[in-house]
Amino acid sequence: MRVLIVEDEPNISAYVKRGLQEQGYAVDAARTGREALDWLAVAPYDLIVLDILLPEINGLEVCKELRQRGISIPVLMLTARDSIDDRVIGLDTGADDYLTKPFALKELLARLRALSRRIDGPAKTTKLQVGDLALDTLTRRVTRAGQPIDLAAKEYAVLECLMREAGRVMTRTMIAEHVWSYEVYNQSNVVDVYIRNLRRKIDDAHDVKLIHTIRGMGYRIEAGGGDETA
Ligand code: CA
Repeated sequence: MRVLIVEDEPNISAYVKRGLQEQGYAVDAARTGREALDWLAVAPYDLIVLDILLPEINGLEVCKELRQRGISIPVLMLTARDSIDDRVIGLDTGADDYLTKPFALKELLARLRALSRRIDGPAKTTKLQVGDLALDTLTRRVTRAGQPIDLAAKEYAVLECLMREAGRVMTRTMIAEHVWSYEVYNQSNVVDVYIRNLRRKIDDAHDVKLIHTIRGMGYRIEAGGGDETA
């Protein structure tokens, strides 16, 4: 999950960024409305946390512009005032939800989870299964043959990305885009490092290997028929 935070107050921005990163989100931070629109033109985001009070272009205008461009990414608006007007205007401009400052990180995370669920729709399951490997996106619990597997946040994010597209080859770029922000995106072997860790935790103790390397292309998770191809 890639999140763009748009907030000009460095303390709040850093606080939210750190909190989301700890949960395994890939996070970029923009400080102005203009910067946000620039980011949105070039990078695929899953969610936007958008402050209303911003220099240059305010959050309401950013949201409006976004919707006019036909971008339907869910937007969670932040407002400093507990003002009904701001909320109504925010929702009118196409925001999906709002949060009044100050807020607890826990509350923000809950809203983002709800938003991503709502956008994914009921068809997108929260329980992913590949062979005897199971992942629950609500509890973030991973088990193989019923045994719990302890994963770091980014390991979990890479695994979820693979399991959502089980049977399909995912290139390193596809995985990186879903899991990392631009800061680490260009370190080309970072995906390989995480795949190695995942293999150790998920496959090493089992005869049937689930994570397959597709040479020259990327990785695929699959319960059977996973021969390496040149
Ligand atoms: Ca602000």
